Amino acid sequence: MPFQKHLLNVPSLVLVLVFAILAVNAAMLTFQYSMALGLEDLQATGRHRLNLYATNLEREIDKYAYFPTTLGLKRDVLELVETPSPGRAQVQEVNEYLEQLNERAGTLSIYILDRAGKVIASSNWRHEDSFVGEDLSFRPYFREAMTRGSGRFFGIGTTRSEPGYYLSSVLANSQGALGAAVVKIGLKQLEKSWSTVEAPALVSDENGVVILASVPGWKFMTLWPLDDAARRAFDQTQQYNRQALHPLGVVDLKNLDNGARLVRLPKTNPEMVAMFPVTGEFVAQTQVLPGTPWNITVFSSQDQIRRNAADRSLLAGVVAGFLCILALMLNERRRHLNARLADREALQKAYDELERKVAERTVDLSSANIRLQQEVAERIQAERTLRAAQDELVQAGKLAVIGQLAASVAHELNQPLAALRTLSGNARKFLARGNQDTASSNLERIDGLVDRMGTVTAQLKSFARKSSGTPQVVSIRRAIDNALFLLQQRLTQARVETRVDLSESELYAWCDANRLEQVLVNLAGNALDAMDGMDEVVLELVACRNGDRVRIQVRDRGPGIPDDVRPRLFEPFFTTKEDGRGLGLGLAISAGIVADFGGSLSGDRHPDGGAVFTLEIPAAPEDPSNE
Ligand code: ADP
Repeated sequence: MPFQKHLLNVPSLVLVLVFAILAVNAAMLTFQYSMALGLEDLQATGRHRLNLYATNLEREIDKYAYFPTTLGLKRDVLELVETPSPGRAQVQEVNEYLEQLNERAGTLSIYILDRAGKVIASSNWRHEDSFVGEDLSFRPYFREAMTRGSGRFFGIGTTRSEPGYYLSSVLANSQGALGAAVVKIGLKQLEKSWSTVEAPALVSDENGVVILASVPGWKFMTLWPLDDAARRAFDQTQQYNRQALHPLGVVDLKNLDNGARLVRLPKTNPEMVAMFPVTGEFVAQTQVLPGTPWNITVFSSQDQIRRNAADRSLLAGVVAGFLCILALMLNERRRHLNARLADREALQKAYDELERKVAERTVDLSSANIRLQQEVAERIQAERTLRAAQDELVQAGKLAVIGQLAASVAHELNQPLAALRTLSGNARKFLARGNQDTASSNLERIDGLVDRMGTVTAQLKSFARKSSGTPQVVSIRRAIDNALFLLQQRLTQARVETRVDLSESELYAWCDANRLEQVLVNLAGNALDAMDGMDEVVLELVACRNGDRVRIQVRDRGPGIPDDVRPRLFEPFFTTKEDGRGLGLGLAISAGIVADFGGSLSGDRHPDGGAVFTLEIPAAPEDPSNE
């Protein structure tokens, strides 16, 4: 296709825009859908982790949960708290027992408080900073044990500032509470269960303080900012042993289904080294740790699902773009095909139109042809009619000439007749006298006269005879002689000098003898008319061969042909002669006859004066024996 096909036209440009928007939309939708799916997956994984971590932690704590209670079953311990002022040996015995137990269990410390909250025996009795003698009545776990039978408490040790989980249980007999047994579990023990976590997770206590975290830096940070009253209360219980308790800075972005939240974890300074991402957007899922007032929270990073969604949306965009390009190409192809179809239709139309026009023209042509044929037929008919009329006129012309001739013929015959009468009368007389010689001489002269008269009548007969129209070999000399003979009377009367000049002894033309004579009589007659009343009357007849033609010229010494007459010479019924003397048919008929021969007739002024009529007719074949 031409150059224009490589250019996108305006509708195609709009199409490209629409397709681009579609591709972007497809990418965006895919991203959203993929994110939604990813979030669902992430939540499921998060829930699973949450359960797993919580169960592990619970199991770890449960290992120690019955420690304090079982201590209350120990007789030595119970006796110790029952005794108001126990002896040194009694205390030492319990101290050692607790020491052994602590070592075996791997706990931080195990100790016994009396009714007043004072430590009376402890696993760390050997250490300088032993709890023994310390008053821990302010610790909530003591109060809880004394009032509710057991207590749990996360706190930082006042002596060693060691964080730990305190499990307490009342020591009682039938008279009531006598004191409390306390087991402190170190965080390391608890954190053991989290050694394999693969996501940020934390345990926060009822105050929102992070007490356990898979990210080391998060410990002792708070999930929400603490007010002054809360801080003062902590100072009093020395729960966190004056730790700074900075807020972790978790920002809630959105609540998701099933209590999950979308949160942003802040960037930490300095950057933490962890096996998993610890900043950015996460799905946070929280649940209460059974048997404690604590919450365990797991953070699942959105990074991976965002990357997946971005990859998928890119793929969707590319696929949509590709489909759009395909659609565009198909559309272009469809348009191209349509254009070709339209071209073909236009071509077909043009072809049909052409065919229709050709058919019309053919009809026109055939009707024109028919008209032409009719015209030709009419012309032929007219020509026939004209020919018939011409023949009639020829006859009429002949009759006119015959009329003229009649007088001269009568005059011509009268003379010999009178001579015959005289000669025959004389012959009779000479025979009666017996003068036979003179009589026979008279009879001879009579014969001559009769012959001459026969000739005259024969000429007249031949002139009057209607021509056969069949061309023959005609002797020019004889034709001229016959014509002059017919005009003999007038020639003699007018004392005309006749000059006949033939270039060859014999000249033959291929025509009709009678009609040629008729033409010559006409021309010579006109010449005599023109020279009528003149002193010098000369009629010249000159004939010669001109190629395959014979040229005959009839010249007179008359006034010539005036300029206004020359163009009308051959017009039928054109005459300058006085009424009755001319019909104006002579030249018209002569021209017609000559044309029939296949020759031509023209009249002009002769350079030496007078008029000259030139007749050109086909020459006869070389062999005159055909005549
Ligand atoms: P018509 O002799 O009956 O007039 P023609 O057709 O023979 O008819 O001649 C037409 C006219 O041509 C004549 O009237 C005459 O004016 C002119 N014409 C013919 N021959 C000659 C001639 N030899 N000299 C002068 N004029 C002539």
